[in-house]
Amino acid sequence: MVPIDLTGKNCLITGGTRGIGAAISLALAHAGASTAAVYRADGTAANMSLEARRACGGDHRNYRTDISKSTQVTALADLAGRHFDGRLHALILNAGIGMHNPIAETSDADWHRVMDTNLTSAFFLVRAFRPLLQPGGSVVAIASGAGHDGLPGLAAYGASKAGLILFTHAIAQDLGPDGIRANVVSPGFIDTEFSGRRADDERRQRIAAGNALRRVGVPNDVAGAVLFFVSDLATFITGQTIRVNGGVV
Ligand code: NDP
Repeated sequence: MVPIDLTGKNCLITGGTRGIGAAISLALAHAGASTAAVYRADGTAANMSLEARRACGGDHRNYRTDISKSTQVTALADLAGRHFDGRLHALILNAGIGMHNPIAETSDADWHRVMDTNLTSAFFLVRAFRPLLQPGGSVVAIASGAGHDGLPGLAAYGASKAGLILFTHAIAQDLGPDGIRANVVSPGFIDTEFSGRRADDERRQRIAAGNALRRVGVPNDVAGAVLFFVSDLATFITGQTIRVNGGVV
């Protein structure tokens, strides 16, 4: 096994305090990176995540920011940029919200909330952090199986994730000449608070039976793929998507 050493690397993870994002932040901290985790409201989860990362040693912090607001993202880039001495090596676009609604029951506000949080935020974040990203650095976006396949009740959510996938593949072309990579990790069902609200034990069993590995995913399954993309194991890989779904067919 090739060890992944991210000592001296600065990483910012949106939604990095809970669920999949907390596992990503902790995996990066374990590999030696300095981490900045962004959250919207849940200070208790943010403190727990920070404590776990600080136990790894190194420099870790949290920022409370609503990434769907352009002005807040600009302020975040200014603050985090000063803390990181103007150098960022990995920008992980993980924060997202779900919405499961038949289209007839989807209000204008629902549509905009999902798009603003899951897609428009990626534009705000990449634009604001672009000047800080270092050659050899990378952007990793967390999409979803719903961004590849049309699933019932997931038109708005799926469209936001399909947009995120294309956005990331396109910025790989824009950032590549400066030595910056951009890739997508696209999870299937992963057991978190986000997914748990809609999954009782019976549904979990059905989901497990529907993939080749016959189990539901856990946040660390996603974190492993992110770590790979961020690391020097992936220096010639950009504009790609890895699906982390246990082999759903
Ligand atoms: P969780 O709901 O467990 O965590 C979401 C995180 O995002 C929290 O830290 C939350 O902050 C933060 N967040 C949400 N909105 C904003 C905002 N406007 N500004 C800043 N931070 C925000 O979600 P998961 O860990 O399950 O999901 C993470 C990502 O993975 C999402 O993009 C999701 O779409 C995707 N995904 C998840 C799957 C799953 O089965 N779990 C499957 C496929 C994709 P706070 O704690 O303060 O609310």
